[in-house]
Parts: sequence; structure tokens; C-alpha cells
Amino acid sequence: MQRADCIALDEADSLAGLRAHFRLEEGLVYLDGNSLGPLPHAVATRIDAVVNNEWGKDLIRSWNTHDWIDLPRKVGEKIAPLLGAAPGQVICADSTSVNLFKLLAAGLALNPGRRVVMSSNSNFPTDLYMAQGLGQLVGEEHCELKIVDDEDIPAALDNNVAILMLTHVDFRSGAMHDMQSLTRLAHESGALVLWDLAHSAGAVPLALDDFEVDMAVGCGYKFLNGGPGAPAFLYVAERHQDKVRQPLAGWMGHAAPFEFKTAYRPAPGIAGFAAGTPAVISMAAMDAALDVWQQARIEDVRSKSIQLSELFRHLVEANPALTGLEWVGERDLHQRGSQVGFHHPEAYAIVQALIAQDVIGDFREPDIMRFGICPLYLRFVDVFDAVARLADIVGKGVYRDPGFSQRSRVT
Ligand SMILES: *Cc1c(COP(=O)(O)O)cnc(C)c1O
Repeated sequence: MQRADCIALDEADSLAGLRAHFRLEEGLVYLDGNSLGPLPHAVATRIDAVVNNEWGKDLIRSWNTHDWIDLPRKVGEKIAPLLGAAPGQVICADSTSVNLFKLLAAGLALNPGRRVVMSSNSNFPTDLYMAQGLGQLVGEEHCELKIVDDEDIPAALDNNVAILMLTHVDFRSGAMHDMQSLTRLAHESGALVLWDLAHSAGAVPLALDDFEVDMAVGCGYKFLNGGPGAPAFLYVAERHQDKVRQPLAGWMGHAAPFEFKTAYRPAPGIAGFAAGTPAVISMAAMDAALDVWQQARIEDVRSKSIQLSELFRHLVEANPALTGLEWVGERDLHQRGSQVGFHHPEAYAIVQALIAQDVIGDFREPDIMRFGICPLYLRFVDVFDAVARLADIVGKGVYRDPGFSQRSRVT
């Protein structure tokens, strides 16, 4: 595979035009959109309007005149098709961590008599921490986190398990759980499921309604490109919504916040899963960032992601300078999310040396270099150039410069 072959693949790519929606410096290869998506031009325009016109001129009137008040619902409905969710089940709110707390508490209330939240030891730490925090608050007799190995999940689903809480795509290995079969297994054992879609939404096709998923959460700033600290989303299947309350009973989830009554009365449906005032500027950014999906089918994005990943692996494995790199996780690309990774004892320094050469990936403990594959803007030629620079850095030992081993707070 030569560089010219990659250019030809880009010329034939039906998604190629979407790259123009993003601000990306020429020469930069951005392989970290799974951690922080790049800036869509539409977001810059929208933020300017929100700040200078809506906030700047129209001030508080904008809650009504620019529908700020409806943003959490409206943005939720824009995310819903990417999740395979019919209207009325998704809201954009808070952070993923906070939404996990809300839904864990709601899910435990939906499944009285059971107290165990079961998860896997490969799960993203915040998911486990939030369950531990809830357990501490309500007491272990009401909420006990049980952590098992991925392969032990089916056998561990006993009649104490209230909620099976898993992250669909593993942030380290890229491995993707079989959502349909695990959801079915959980239901057969009487448990509910709570899926974390942080590395799935905008990356792989999802079918929450078809798979009868109970609850889900996910991130706005990764594959959805909503910007740093973008608000997250949550999904609650319609059949559950009016049976429970979530514990963060803030006024924005009240049925009539501007009646200012002393007693909390939840808004019906998904609206009751909001808590406080939405971060309007961030949510407007999310809203604008999602418009690109009007021109992209997630199925096409997924098949390009698999092609790009295949190319990445092929180029690494065919390069004699890169024999020290070992593929991370599942080899079958159809059972992975949209990232590739390689083990190497010097992964941290190699990633820093790559960043110094404008190829941005990231490092995950203990020894993984991780590259997000985001087909809305990533080209075949970008993958070619990234692997060429990687081979140069590893082949010549460029990463041995001590400056590349200095750890920053964010890796
Ligand atoms: C990125 C990520 C989060 C982030 O949660 P925040 O509350 O937004 O910090 C949560 N879960 C998973 C699986 C993630 O990958």
C-alpha cells in the first residue's frame, strides 16, 4: 500500500466532503477525536451568535425567544437517532458521571429487593466510582458494587443483581460488548441494564430500542464533537420513565419550575431526568456540532472506520521498524469500537514524540498508544502519514529524548 493508493481511496470516499466541516490544521493528523472531537466550523459560528447576540443583546429574553429552555430536550432528540432511540427518551444534561449517578439510583428503585450493581473490572473508572459513591451514600444494603471479569458476567448474573452497568466499547482495548445478548441475559436474570456509550455514540450504529435497553448514558465531547466538557446525554426507555424518580430533583426537572412550589413534582417523561439550569453556551455548541449527522449515515461512518483501522493495522504490521508494537485487544474489527491501539514498553514517550511531529494520539496506562479513528474527518492518507511518522520515530529512536518521558497531568 503506497501513499498514492491512499489518496485514491480518499478520492473515492463518499464521506470525504465532511472533513470541510471541521477546523483542522493542514499537516496535522488528529487521532484523538475519541477523547476530544475537533471544532466544527458550525460551532464557532453558533457560539459567536449565542454569546454576542443572544446573551449579549437579547439577554434573559433569550430563554424564550431563542428557546434556551428547550435546548436539553431538543439536543437530546438530535442525539436519539444515533442511539436507535425513538423520540421522548433522550435528554442532554450534566456530565456522564452525574448521569450515571442519577440512573443508577433510578434503576435501583425500579428493581426493589435487589441491591447489586454489577460491572466489569475493565470498565471506565468513573462508572465504578459513581457506583461506589452511591453505595456509600445509601448504604451497602441498598447498593453494592460487584466487579467481575468480562468473561464472568453471564455466570455472575444472580438474583441479587439489580443493574448490569457496562461500557459498550472499552476505552483501553477498543473491545465492544455484544449489547443485544448481554441485555437479554441481564433481563432473563431479572436485572436492568445501564450502558455507557461514551465511545459508541457517533462511532458505531446503536439500537437501544430494538435491544430493549433500559438506560444509557454517554459523552458529548468525544465522537459527537461537542467541545471540551460538553454536556452529556442520558436515555431512559419510555416504559420506565414515569415509574421512578431520579435523586437530583432540581427545579429544571420539575413539572412547573416557574410555579416555585415548595414540593417537588417531577416533569413527566424524560424531562424529569434533568436537574439544574443547562449550560446554554455548551449546549448550543452540542446542538450545532450534531448537524453534521444530517449528511452522514452512521452505517457509512462505521464501514469507513473499519477500513481505516484495517489500513492502520496493515501498515504497522508490514513495517519492519514497527515489529516491537503489539496490537491491543480483539483482532476482529467488527467486534471493536472506533479506535486502534498498540502495546509498547515506551508507549508514553513514543506518543509524545508523535505529538511533537503533529500526529496526535494518546497514551493509556500501562503501555498503550491509542489512536481514535473518526471517519467524519480522517483520511486514508492521514493514516498513511501517521504510520510513516511512527515508523520514523521508532526506527530512529527519536522517542528516547528524555523530554518525551516527562509526564503531564493529562495523558
Ligand atoms: C470519557 C468517559 C466518561 C467521562 O465522564 P465525564 O463525567 O464526562 O468526565 C465516562 N465514561 C466513559 C466510559 C468514558 O469513556
